[in-house]
Amino acid sequence: MKKIEDELFKAGLKEGDLTKISKVSKGDVHNHCGLGMRFTTFNKWAGGSVNKPPNKIDGLKGLDDYIFNETIKFINDKEDIKFLIEETVKEAIRDGVKVLGASIDCHELMRFTDKKEFFSLILNIKNKYNAHIDFRPEVGIPKSITNENLDKLLIPCIESGVFKSIDLYGDETKENFEKFKDYYKFAKEKGLKLKVHSGEFHDYRNVKKAIAILEVDEIQHGIGAVSNEYIMDLIKEKNIRLNICPSSNYILGAVREMKKYPARKLYDKGIVITINTDDLLLFNSGVSEEYLYLYKLKLFDVDELNEIRKNSLI
Ligand SMILES: [Zn+2]
Repeated sequence: MKKIEDELFKAGLKEGDLTKISKVSKGDVHNHCGLGMRFTTFNKWAGGSVNKPPNKIDGLKGLDDYIFNETIKFINDKEDIKFLIEETVKEAIRDGVKVLGASIDCHELMRFTDKKEFFSLILNIKNKYNAHIDFRPEVGIPKSITNENLDKLLIPCIESGVFKSIDLYGDETKENFEKFKDYYKFAKEKGLKLKVHSGEFHDYRNVKKAIAILEVDEIQHGIGAVSNEYIMDLIKEKNIRLNICPSSNYILGAVREMKKYPARKLYDKGIVITINTDDLLLFNSGVSEEYLYLYKLKLFDVDELNEIRKNSLI
């Protein structure tokens, strides 16, 4: 079966056949549930009045503006949260994703008077699709979270046993990693994998701090590490996996020229990388399309992409 998948994946890339690529097992381990479905699905659900995301978005500010103006106003109650999570899982299944690490912001817990209701909603979705996909819920933390909410929202999420990993995201200029250090330690004790968004728009210094302070297992993006040999060696030595999102990096302007996309150099350094969607609603590119994108750019050959594909299934 595995060999058949290898061949089908490579044939799909060479022939530019997305149907073939989508039939092969893949992981998507950098995905945010709130934006994990296609725009068309979201727009239909929201009544058809949502404006399409632009082809280029001005960094995280542009991303926040779009969400604020177009999507967030439709998310009001528990049923809406259920829709966002379930559609993200269904979308991933349609694209042949077998391992889905998708973050759910811990603030969603505020919509539930009974915490258990939130956790069982997530578990029910996980169990419902278990035969098709290994959905690994991830608890997401925005850097702007208050100290009070860290205790009130994040701690119960870590303790729930529902989440398999933890991820911190938001404005990279806020290098307030210290604030989260104890929470990361606690998550580690509880068996969660530690992830952080770092090195997306900023360089190796941001990555260096994230590694030193939070002792993470994986970095979401991490492409900024490419500017420093020592940090790349450190990532390799600590076996930190970089969960990279090509379309996201290009559309948000983190990378200007895809021909020089840092994934190549990071891979050549021997760093373990994966290819992921980040926010499907915004970038309109599933993980199968992301592999084909990198192949067409001639950044990787079929064997290399197949090896990267397997990295995401662990
Ligand atoms: Zn992300």
